[in-house]
Amino acid sequence: MKTLKNLETEIKEKGLKYYIITYGCQMNAHESEKIAGLLESIGYIPANSKEDADFIIFNTCCIRENAEQKTFGNVGRIKKLKQLNRELLVSVCGCMMQQESAAKKLMKTFPFVDIVFGTYNLHELPEMILACKSSPDPIYRAPEIGELHDDVPQKRSEGPLASVNIMYGCNNFCSYCIVPYVRGRERSRSANDVISEVAGLTSQGFREVMLLGQNVNSYDGGLNFAQLLKQICEETDIPRIRFMTSHPKDLSDELIGVIAAHPQICRHIHLPVQSGSSRILQEMNRKYTREAYIALAEKIRKNIPGIAVTTDIIVGFPGETDADFAQTLSLVKELRFDSAFTFVYSPRNGTRAARMPNQVDEETQARRIKELVALQNRITEERNHEYEGRSMEVLVEGISARNPKHVCGRTSTSKMVNFEGDASLIGNFVNVKITHGKKTTLFGTLN
Ligand code: SF4
Repeated sequence: MKTLKNLETEIKEKGLKYYIITYGCQMNAHESEKIAGLLESIGYIPANSKEDADFIIFNTCCIRENAEQKTFGNVGRIKKLKQLNRELLVSVCGCMMQQESAAKKLMKTFPFVDIVFGTYNLHELPEMILACKSSPDPIYRAPEIGELHDDVPQKRSEGPLASVNIMYGCNNFCSYCIVPYVRGRERSRSANDVISEVAGLTSQGFREVMLLGQNVNSYDGGLNFAQLLKQICEETDIPRIRFMTSHPKDLSDELIGVIAAHPQICRHIHLPVQSGSSRILQEMNRKYTREAYIALAEKIRKNIPGIAVTTDIIVGFPGETDADFAQTLSLVKELRFDSAFTFVYSPRNGTRAARMPNQVDEETQARRIKELVALQNRITEERNHEYEGRSMEVLVEGISARNPKHVCGRTSTSKMVNFEGDASLIGNFVNVKITHGKKTTLFGTLN
């Protein structure tokens, strides 16, 4: 019988390559780093494209319906490659595969897919590849929400930024959201593990860490989230710390105080509001009102001067009237977010909102999102203009995708800045004089 050692030898001798296609949020992007780490630990090397790969993995997302449709379309297109290369392995994993119905539908639609598994089986990938090599049938690991397996090898993306999961799952059951069903209840990593991972990343040369969780403010790993941030600041030399995502109902005064007192914690809070109507917020089970959210955002801005506040907004939630939507527009005008991710509500099977009456028709949703996006774009641009003439500290992340003579990086307030420079600047903190603030980016010159 073939062993993992035999498998590793075969992969190395044949020079087999992998290619990962990632959908969805930063948690998923970070899980793809773990998949890459696991595959490289058994000898796979990265491919430049899917055409060049011997193993293609789709790491899926199920937050929105169109993410699912996109996945099905893209997996379907791989059939041609599979016909050209009989040795090619195809795997589909991630949140979408945590739902048994979606996994079964995928396997039925695309019988050429070799390995299907959910987020909690990721650490078993080498064993699944081994099993697949000697099985005529696809390998399917049932999507059980199991133990945390954080000790898998990780292949960090290049550059000065690193992500660190601090917790998994969510207890909130917002009525539109599938996450608690696919990621399970909240489980926090121990504070010691998180702090030593950050210290290790710092000594490897990373300059900024992003602490990730569905609701970081309810972190409970022996310390609460505010205490964890404070300890990271005091016990490591990491120059910059970001975190996401924050639920407004759990954002404490203690946390605001810790951020205010520690300049290495970025001046940026992503604080999803979702709606400006208290009635809709209640239907969404968000557990705060419009007034409470506004008061919180104002308190954050007052106590942490210069902080950027960004948000997520859903339009067209079931039962949303024109008057509710007007409340969202007025909240956006009042709070003038630095930027916002805006979404049209899409029902997810199994959630309470999907069963609600009064689903909003597509035409109304389209009209509302257009109006909201136009308003927020104008505000974002105006806010970006406010940076003109200021000198900002920027952590250089890489060469600009648009201009090879430019580099790009972020301010502590999470504004992307482009300016003339070369690869030698990557990973450095530099001061940049902002000359133009555009819709999505600031432009400047080194000073
Ligand atoms: S807080 Fe709400 S929206 Fe966010 S992951 Fe949890 S249930 Fe979903």
